[in-house]
Amino acid sequence: MPALELNDLDRRIWNEELNDFVPDKIFDAHTHIFRWAYNTDPDKDSGPLRNFVQPAFEDAGWKLLDECDELLMPGRQVERLSFPFPYSNGCDFDGSNEFIAGEVKGHPQSGALMLVHPAMTADDIESAVEQHGFLGLKPYRFFSSTGDFVHCRITDFLPEHQIAVADRLGLLIMMHLSKPDGISDPQNLDDLEFLTTQYPRARWILAHCARAYSSWPIERAGNRLREMPNTWFDTSSVCESDAIEALIRTVGIERVMYGSDDVPVGVLRGKYISFGYGWAYLSEQNHNFNLSHCDARMTFTRFEQLRAMKRAARATGLTDLQIEALFHDNAVSLIHGHC
Ligand SMILES: [Zn+2]
Repeated sequence: MPALELNDLDRRIWNEELNDFVPDKIFDAHTHIFRWAYNTDPDKDSGPLRNFVQPAFEDAGWKLLDECDELLMPGRQVERLSFPFPYSNGCDFDGSNEFIAGEVKGHPQSGALMLVHPAMTADDIESAVEQHGFLGLKPYRFFSSTGDFVHCRITDFLPEHQIAVADRLGLLIMMHLSKPDGISDPQNLDDLEFLTTQYPRARWILAHCARAYSSWPIERAGNRLREMPNTWFDTSSVCESDAIEALIRTVGIERVMYGSDDVPVGVLRGKYISFGYGWAYLSEQNHNFNLSHCDARMTFTRFEQLRAMKRAARATGLTDLQIEALFHDNAVSLIHGHC
Protein backbone atom coordinates (compact mmCIF):
# COMPACT_ATOMS: atom_id res chain seq x y z
CA MET A 1 0.00 0.00 0.00
CA PRO A 2 1.45 3.41 -0.86
CA ALA A 3 2.21 5.60 2.14
CA LEU A 4 0.20 8.44 0.62
CA GLU A 5 -2.44 8.98 -1.99
CA LEU A 6 -3.88 12.16 -3.43
CA ASN A 7 -7.63 12.54 -3.79
CA ASP A 8 -9.62 15.01 -5.88
CA LEU A 9 -9.68 17.54 -3.02
CA ASP A 10 -5.87 17.54 -2.73
CA ARG A 11 -5.45 17.79 -6.51
CA ARG A 12 -7.82 20.70 -6.76
CA ILE A 13 -6.08 22.64 -3.96
CA TRP A 14 -2.66 21.96 -5.49
CA ASN A 15 -3.71 22.87 -9.03
CA GLU A 16 -5.83 25.90 -8.24
CA GLU A 17 -3.93 27.44 -5.33
CA LEU A 18 -0.41 26.10 -4.87
CA ASN A 19 1.19 24.99 -8.13
CA ASP A 20 1.73 28.58 -9.28
CA PHE A 21 3.12 29.62 -5.90
CA VAL A 22 5.67 26.92 -5.01
CA PRO A 23 8.99 27.54 -6.84
CA ASP A 24 10.93 24.83 -8.70
CA LYS A 25 13.84 24.73 -6.28
CA ILE A 26 13.14 23.94 -2.65
CA PHE A 27 15.34 23.75 0.41
CA ASP A 28 13.19 22.23 3.14
CA ALA A 29 14.70 23.45 6.42
CA HIS A 30 12.67 21.22 8.76
CA THR A 31 12.42 17.48 8.07
CA HIS A 32 12.58 14.36 10.21
CA ILE A 33 14.47 11.19 9.27
CA PHE A 34 13.96 8.33 11.71
CA ARG A 35 12.95 4.77 12.40
CA TRP A 36 10.18 3.68 14.75
CA ALA A 37 12.67 1.07 16.01
CA TYR A 38 14.59 3.87 17.77
CA ASN A 39 11.57 4.49 19.99
CA THR A 40 12.62 2.34 22.96
CA ASP A 41 9.42 2.81 25.01
CA PRO A 42 8.20 -0.75 25.73
CA ASP A 43 4.59 0.47 25.54
CA LYS A 44 5.10 2.42 22.33
CA ASP A 45 2.51 0.52 20.32
CA SER A 46 -0.29 1.50 22.70
CA GLY A 47 0.98 5.05 23.32
CA PRO A 48 -0.19 8.30 21.69
CA LEU A 49 2.74 8.46 19.26
CA ARG A 50 1.42 5.35 17.53
CA ASN A 51 -1.43 7.37 15.98
CA PHE A 52 1.08 9.87 14.78
CA VAL A 53 3.75 7.59 13.33
CA GLN A 54 1.61 5.23 11.28
CA PRO A 55 3.15 1.97 9.99
CA ALA A 56 3.67 3.51 6.54
CA PHE A 57 6.03 6.08 8.13
CA GLU A 58 7.97 3.75 10.45
CA ASP A 59 11.05 3.87 8.26
CA ALA A 60 11.28 7.49 7.33
CA GLY A 61 14.46 7.66 5.28
CA TRP A 62 15.56 9.92 2.44
CA LYS A 63 13.65 7.84 -0.13
CA LEU A 64 10.33 8.19 1.71
CA LEU A 65 10.80 11.96 1.96
CA ASP A 66 11.54 12.08 -1.78
CA GLU A 67 8.37 10.10 -2.49
CA CYS A 68 6.24 12.39 -0.32
CA ASP A 69 7.68 15.51 -1.97
CA GLU A 70 7.20 14.10 -5.48
CA LEU A 71 3.57 13.35 -4.71
CA LEU A 72 2.77 16.61 -2.92
CA MET A 73 4.98 18.97 -4.93
CA PRO A 74 5.46 17.23 -8.28
CA GLY A 75 8.53 18.15 -10.30
CA ARG A 76 10.20 20.19 -7.56
CA GLN A 77 13.87 19.68 -6.81
CA VAL A 78 14.19 19.32 -3.03
CA GLU A 79 17.19 19.50 -0.68
CA ARG A 80 16.75 19.25 3.06
CA LEU A 81 17.94 19.96 6.55
CA SER A 82 16.97 16.84 8.51
CA PHE A 83 17.04 15.62 12.09
CA PRO A 84 15.78 12.57 13.99
CA PHE A 85 12.42 12.19 15.70
CA PRO A 86 12.65 12.96 19.45
CA TYR A 87 10.92 10.02 21.10
CA SER A 88 9.89 11.31 24.50
CA ASN A 89 9.48 8.02 26.41
CA GLY A 90 12.74 6.36 25.45
CA CYS A 91 14.94 7.10 22.49
CA ASP A 92 17.97 5.42 20.97
CA PHE A 93 20.03 8.56 20.36
CA ASP A 94 23.05 6.78 18.85
CA GLY A 95 20.90 4.68 16.51
CA SER A 96 18.90 7.75 15.45
CA ASN A 97 22.03 9.78 14.76
CA GLU A 98 23.87 7.05 12.89
CA PHE A 99 20.82 6.35 10.72
CA ILE A 100 20.32 9.96 9.70
CA ALA A 101 24.01 10.45 8.97
CA GLY A 102 23.87 7.51 6.56
CA GLU A 103 20.69 8.71 4.88
CA VAL A 104 21.96 12.25 4.23
CA LYS A 105 25.46 11.19 3.21
CA GLY A 106 24.93 11.05 -0.57
CA HIS A 107 23.33 14.52 -0.65
CA PRO A 108 26.06 17.13 -0.22
CA GLN A 109 23.68 20.07 -0.69
CA SER A 110 21.58 18.80 2.23
CA GLY A 111 22.54 18.32 5.86
CA ALA A 112 21.71 16.58 9.11
CA LEU A 113 21.48 17.70 12.72
CA MET A 114 22.39 15.58 15.72
CA LEU A 115 19.65 14.71 18.22
CA VAL A 116 21.07 15.75 21.61
CA HIS A 117 20.20 15.02 25.23
CA PRO A 118 21.18 17.46 28.01
CA ALA A 119 23.29 14.75 29.68
CA MET A 120 25.66 14.55 26.69
CA THR A 121 29.09 16.00 27.33
CA ALA A 122 30.91 18.45 25.08
CA ASP A 123 33.20 15.57 24.03
CA ASP A 124 30.23 13.33 23.16
CA ILE A 125 28.91 16.00 20.84
CA GLU A 126 32.21 17.05 19.31
CA SER A 127 33.19 13.52 18.44
CA ALA A 128 29.78 12.70 16.88
CA VAL A 129 29.83 15.94 14.88
CA GLU A 130 33.30 15.14 13.63
CA GLN A 131 32.49 11.51 12.83
CA HIS A 132 29.19 12.14 11.03
CA GLY A 133 29.60 15.68 9.68
CA PHE A 134 26.51 17.02 11.46
CA LEU A 135 25.75 20.65 10.71
CA GLY A 136 24.23 21.28 14.11
CA LEU A 137 22.17 20.19 17.07
CA LYS A 138 18.54 19.25 17.58
CA PRO A 139 17.62 19.49 21.28
CA TYR A 140 14.06 18.87 22.41
CA ARG A 141 12.03 20.08 25.36
CA PHE A 142 10.79 16.55 26.12
CA PHE A 143 14.33 15.75 27.29
CA SER A 144 14.41 18.64 29.80
CA SER A 145 16.53 17.89 32.85
CA THR A 146 13.77 19.45 34.99
CA GLY A 147 11.23 16.85 33.84
CA ASP A 148 8.82 19.71 33.07
CA PHE A 149 8.65 19.95 29.30
CA VAL A 150 5.94 22.64 29.30
CA HIS A 151 7.67 25.33 31.37
CA CYS A 152 11.35 24.46 30.94
CA ARG A 153 13.93 27.06 29.95
CA ILE A 154 16.15 26.65 26.90
CA THR A 155 19.18 25.67 28.97
CA ASP A 156 17.16 22.97 30.76
CA PHE A 157 17.19 20.96 27.53
CA LEU A 158 20.22 22.52 25.80
CA PRO A 159 22.77 23.22 28.53
CA GLU A 160 25.32 25.95 28.04
CA HIS A 161 28.25 23.58 27.58
CA GLN A 162 26.46 22.26 24.45
CA ILE A 163 25.79 25.78 23.16
CA ALA A 164 29.50 26.47 23.70
CA VAL A 165 30.30 23.55 21.37
CA ALA A 166 27.91 24.99 18.76
CA ASP A 167 29.68 28.33 19.13
CA ARG A 168 33.15 26.80 18.82
CA LEU A 169 32.25 24.75 15.74
CA GLY A 170 29.85 27.28 14.13
CA LEU A 171 26.88 24.87 14.35
CA LEU A 172 23.17 25.34 13.78
CA ILE A 173 20.71 24.85 16.62
CA MET A 174 17.16 23.82 15.70
CA MET A 175 15.10 25.18 18.59
CA HIS A 176 11.49 24.28 19.31
CA LEU A 177 10.80 26.70 22.17
CA SER A 178 9.03 25.65 25.34
CA LYS A 179 6.57 27.60 27.55
CA PRO A 180 2.89 28.37 26.85
CA ASP A 181 3.65 31.86 25.51
CA GLY A 182 6.53 30.63 23.31
CA ILE A 183 8.66 33.43 21.90
CA SER A 184 6.68 36.09 23.79
CA ASP A 185 7.64 34.62 27.16
CA PRO A 186 10.02 37.17 28.76
CA GLN A 187 12.31 34.47 30.10
CA ASN A 188 12.68 32.88 26.65
CA LEU A 189 13.49 36.31 25.22
CA ASP A 190 15.97 37.07 28.02
CA ASP A 191 17.63 33.69 27.60
CA LEU A 192 17.84 33.97 23.81
CA GLU A 193 19.26 37.49 23.98
CA PHE A 194 21.90 36.33 26.42
CA LEU A 195 22.78 33.10 24.59
CA THR A 196 22.89 34.56 21.06
CA THR A 197 25.21 37.32 22.30
CA GLN A 198 27.37 35.14 24.52
CA TYR A 199 27.83 32.48 21.80
CA PRO A 200 27.84 34.49 18.56
CA ARG A 201 28.97 31.71 16.21
CA ALA A 202 26.01 29.43 17.03
CA ARG A 203 23.19 30.01 14.55
CA TRP A 204 19.68 29.41 15.81
CA ILE A 205 16.67 28.32 13.79
CA LEU A 206 13.51 29.02 15.78
CA ALA A 207 11.17 26.31 14.51
CA HIS A 208 7.49 26.79 13.66
CA CYS A 209 7.73 30.61 13.29
CA ALA A 210 9.46 30.70 16.70
CA ARG A 211 6.64 28.37 17.82
CA ALA A 212 3.96 30.93 17.01
CA TYR A 213 0.86 29.32 15.52
CA SER A 214 -0.85 32.70 15.47
CA SER A 215 0.46 36.26 15.28
CA TRP A 216 0.22 37.28 18.93
CA PRO A 217 3.50 35.77 20.25
CA ILE A 218 5.46 37.46 17.43
CA GLU A 219 3.65 40.77 17.86
CA ARG A 220 4.30 40.69 21.60
CA ALA A 221 7.98 39.83 21.11
CA GLY A 222 8.20 42.68 18.56
CA ASN A 223 11.50 44.56 18.47
CA ARG A 224 13.23 42.09 20.78
CA LEU A 225 12.71 39.41 18.14
CA ARG A 226 13.61 41.73 15.25
CA GLU A 227 16.92 42.60 16.85
CA MET A 228 17.86 39.11 18.02
CA PRO A 229 21.22 38.32 16.39
CA ASN A 230 22.01 34.96 14.74
CA THR A 231 18.42 33.79 14.50
CA TRP A 232 16.51 32.33 11.58
CA PHE A 233 12.98 30.93 11.42
CA ASP A 234 11.15 28.08 9.70
CA THR A 235 7.47 28.07 8.80
CA SER A 236 6.96 24.33 9.32
CA SER A 237 3.46 23.23 10.34
CA VAL A 238 2.20 26.80 10.86
CA CYS A 239 -1.14 26.92 9.05
CA GLU A 240 -2.44 30.37 9.95
CA SER A 241 -1.30 33.12 7.63
CA ASP A 242 -1.37 35.82 10.31
CA ALA A 243 1.55 34.14 12.10
CA ILE A 244 3.69 33.97 8.95
CA GLU A 245 2.72 37.51 7.96
CA ALA A 246 3.64 38.83 11.41
CA LEU A 247 6.96 37.01 11.25
CA ILE A 248 7.87 38.44 7.83
CA ARG A 249 6.83 41.94 8.90
CA THR A 250 8.80 41.68 12.14
CA VAL A 251 12.10 40.03 11.15
CA GLY A 252 12.14 40.59 7.37
CA ILE A 253 12.02 37.94 4.66
CA GLU A 254 15.78 37.19 4.65
CA ARG A 255 15.69 35.04 7.80
CA VAL A 256 12.49 33.10 7.10
CA MET A 257 12.65 29.62 5.54
CA TYR A 258 10.19 27.05 4.32
CA GLY A 259 10.06 23.79 6.28
CA SER A 260 7.59 20.95 5.83
CA ASP A 261 7.84 19.06 9.15
CA ASP A 262 7.76 15.87 7.07
CA VAL A 263 7.36 13.19 8.05
CA PRO A 264 4.78 12.65 9.38
CA VAL A 265 3.25 16.06 10.28
CA GLY A 266 3.27 17.60 6.79
CA VAL A 267 1.66 14.58 5.16
CA LEU A 268 -1.05 13.99 7.76
CA ARG A 269 -4.53 15.21 6.92
CA GLY A 270 -5.41 18.05 9.26
CA LYS A 271 -4.42 21.54 10.30
CA TYR A 272 -2.93 23.40 13.23
CA ILE A 273 -5.57 25.82 14.42
CA SER A 274 -5.30 28.62 16.97
CA PHE A 275 -7.85 30.04 19.40
CA GLY A 276 -7.54 32.41 22.34
CA TYR A 277 -3.91 31.95 23.41
CA GLY A 278 -3.86 28.29 22.47
CA TRP A 279 -3.39 26.05 19.45
CA ALA A 280 -3.99 22.42 18.62
CA TYR A 281 -3.82 19.90 15.84
CA LEU A 282 -7.22 19.26 14.27
CA SER A 283 -7.55 16.06 12.26
CA GLU A 284 -10.31 14.03 10.67
CA GLN A 285 -10.13 11.66 13.63
CA ASN A 286 -10.11 13.98 16.64
CA HIS A 287 -13.26 16.07 16.29
CA ASN A 288 -17.01 15.50 16.35
CA PHE A 289 -18.23 18.55 14.48
CA ASN A 290 -21.40 18.20 12.45
CA LEU A 291 -20.03 18.91 8.98
CA SER A 292 -22.99 17.88 6.86
CA HIS A 293 -23.17 21.40 5.36
CA CYS A 294 -19.81 21.21 3.56
CA ASP A 295 -17.11 19.00 2.12
CA ALA A 296 -15.83 17.62 5.43
CA ARG A 297 -12.61 16.09 4.09
CA MET A 298 -9.27 17.48 5.19
CA THR A 299 -6.18 17.89 3.07
CA PHE A 300 -2.51 17.58 4.04
CA THR A 301 -1.13 19.80 6.79
CA ARG A 302 1.52 20.83 4.29
CA PHE A 303 -1.08 22.13 1.85
CA GLU A 304 -2.73 24.16 4.63
CA GLN A 305 0.69 25.55 5.53
CA LEU A 306 1.43 26.42 1.89
CA ARG A 307 -1.94 28.14 1.61
CA ALA A 308 -1.04 30.22 4.69
CA MET A 309 2.39 31.02 3.22
CA LYS A 310 0.76 32.15 -0.02
CA ARG A 311 -1.69 34.42 1.80
CA ALA A 312 1.15 35.86 3.90
CA ALA A 313 3.27 36.40 0.78
CA ARG A 314 0.38 38.23 -0.85
CA ALA A 315 -0.34 40.34 2.23
CA THR A 316 3.30 41.41 2.58
CA GLY A 317 3.75 41.94 -1.17
CA LEU A 318 6.63 39.50 -1.66
CA THR A 319 8.24 39.51 -5.11
CA ASP A 320 8.94 36.30 -7.04
CA LEU A 321 12.59 36.56 -6.01
CA GLN A 322 11.63 36.89 -2.36
CA ILE A 323 9.37 33.84 -2.66
CA GLU A 324 12.29 31.90 -4.15
CA ALA A 325 14.42 33.06 -1.24
CA LEU A 326 11.78 31.92 1.24
CA PHE A 327 11.65 28.44 -0.31
CA HIS A 328 15.33 27.99 -1.12
CA ASP A 329 17.97 30.73 -1.12
CA ASN A 330 17.67 31.83 2.52
CA ALA A 331 18.28 28.28 3.77
CA VAL A 332 21.14 27.69 1.34
CA SER A 333 22.93 30.86 2.40
CA LEU A 334 22.46 29.99 6.07
CA ILE A 335 23.72 26.44 5.63
CA HIS A 336 26.36 26.82 2.94
CA GLY A 337 27.18 30.51 3.17
CA HIS A 338 26.08 31.21 -0.45
CA CYS A 339 23.18 30.47 -2.79
ZN1 LIG B 1 9.46 18.87 13.49
